[in-house]
Amino acid sequence: MGETIAYRRELPVARTSEVLVVGGGPAGIAAAIASARQGARTLLLERFGFLGGNATAALVGPFMTCYSLDGQQQLVRGIYEELVRRLERIGGALHPSGIPAGSPYCGFIVFGHDKVTPFDPEAVKVVALEMCREAGVEIQFHTFVFDALVEGGAVTGVVAASKSGAEAVRARVTVDCSADADVAARAGVPCRTGRDADGLTQPMTLFFRIAGVDDARVEAYVRAHPEDRRPFAGLIRAARERGEWAIPREGVGMYKTLEPGVWRINTTRMQRASGTDVRELTRAEMEGREQMLFLLRFFRERLPGLEHCRLYDSAATIGVRETRRIEGEYTLTAQDLTEGREFDDVIALAGYPFDIHSPDSAGGGTGTGELRSANIYQAPYRCLVPVGVDGLLVAGRSISATHEALAAIRVMPPCFALGEAAGTAAALAIRHGVQPRHVPVPDLQAALVRLGAYLGEARAARYGPAAATAD
Ligand SMILES: Cc1cc2nc3c(=O)[nH]c(=O)nc-3n(C[C@H](O)[C@H](O)[C@H](O)COP(=O)(O)OP(=O)(O)OC[C@H]3O[C@@H](n4cnc5c(N)ncnc54)[C@H](O)[C@@H]3O)c2cc1C
Repeated sequence: MGETIAYRRELPVARTSEVLVVGGGPAGIAAAIASARQGARTLLLERFGFLGGNATAALVGPFMTCYSLDGQQQLVRGIYEELVRRLERIGGALHPSGIPAGSPYCGFIVFGHDKVTPFDPEAVKVVALEMCREAGVEIQFHTFVFDALVEGGAVTGVVAASKSGAEAVRARVTVDCSADADVAARAGVPCRTGRDADGLTQPMTLFFRIAGVDDARVEAYVRAHPEDRRPFAGLIRAARERGEWAIPREGVGMYKTLEPGVWRINTTRMQRASGTDVRELTRAEMEGREQMLFLLRFFRERLPGLEHCRLYDSAATIGVRETRRIEGEYTLTAQDLTEGREFDDVIALAGYPFDIHSPDSAGGGTGTGELRSANIYQAPYRCLVPVGVDGLLVAGRSISATHEALAAIRVMPPCFALGEAAGTAAALAIRHGVQPRHVPVPDLQAALVRLGAYLGEARAARYGPAAATAD
């Protein structure tokens, strides 16, 4: 370590709350709404000036499937389904039930891409905010949480920085939805990062959108070249072999949006960069923008239907696929997903398959090796409960899972479901006067099912509206 200085000051306790949610992405939105709906005084802190996380700030989309792998059964419902229905009403999304695998909204991809949800990020900013405010969530934007308050082995709040300076915020239960386990790591929860073998994480991607695309020509070309695993893979390979264009992916990750001629591009690639190191993040942002301009030139020069495309916008922040994962009471494994293992403390179901973007291979391919997830898999509550530290739950991208299991459950619909469970559990912990790890799981599951979550047929029968009528 280089030079260090000692720095010490008194901080005001700016706010107190029963439940504090850190981060307003998919997990944090659902956690805050669920907690407030359970009657807990809930405060959400978010570093940007709007909600949505990757869905808005990083322009990531569509929402990957909320269905079983075979596309037959919707698994993620609850707050996610409410959000999608409300987006639909203002023309800000298409319900996944009408989006078949292989459609342009799925990037023409078939496996694992049945029933995605195309959405407008601007509509998500508006509707997520409305839903939080209607539920009674207090929100503070422009606030970056950089430390945890820990007393007697429990998190009792956080320290945050903003234009108002450094301030403390106290809470009885904190739900860390920062995607980087920022609170958990600062509180001393053991965390892992990346692959077991070398710690390398999935690459980052700067999303951008292009306008002026000839949708019909793109679709006609892609349909006429079924040998391409991804759109335009043959043209990219040929250009690379001639040494003309070193495109960082095997094909163009391109997803049609709700606006004619406008597509999201998921094709830049920054490998070997850490999303929890500000200097590496800065380098990745710069490299992402260079790659974006390079890709735009390639698209215009070489790709049918993209000759007249122009930059529509680029993400406000680079998309980070993977950073810290907490060590929780249980660690979700690849085997749990391949076997579709059932857990007594199930709190979410999902069907999106393993999707590991190579941390190091040239060409930046995606792959899952021999891993094949079950049609439906489960996440247990214990994955949200950190070992050794009380007063804290973790939801979203940094739950307790292996690198491989996370590569499936990290997509946005399951993150909504995990957040909804964490927020509900946090409020129940307060109501019962217990630590989150001691929340009675049947009470948690019953509350989730009553609020519209789907935890399988048996629990729907036990806790759902029909069961209440039968009583
Ligand atoms: C390049 C890329 C492509 C992807 N493609 C898809 C896709 O097509 N479909 C899909 O469904 N999923 C996709 N994913 C996965 C998905 O976007 C994420 O895994 C998911 O958004 C995680 O949700 P989250 O709520 O845990 O975190 P995030 O969406 O990252 O939200 C975290 C929130 O916390 C805030 N925050 C972070 N740290 C702090 C702090 N210290 N203090 C205050 N606020 C903080 C952030 O500003 C953000 O709003 C992709 C991800 C990437 C990076």
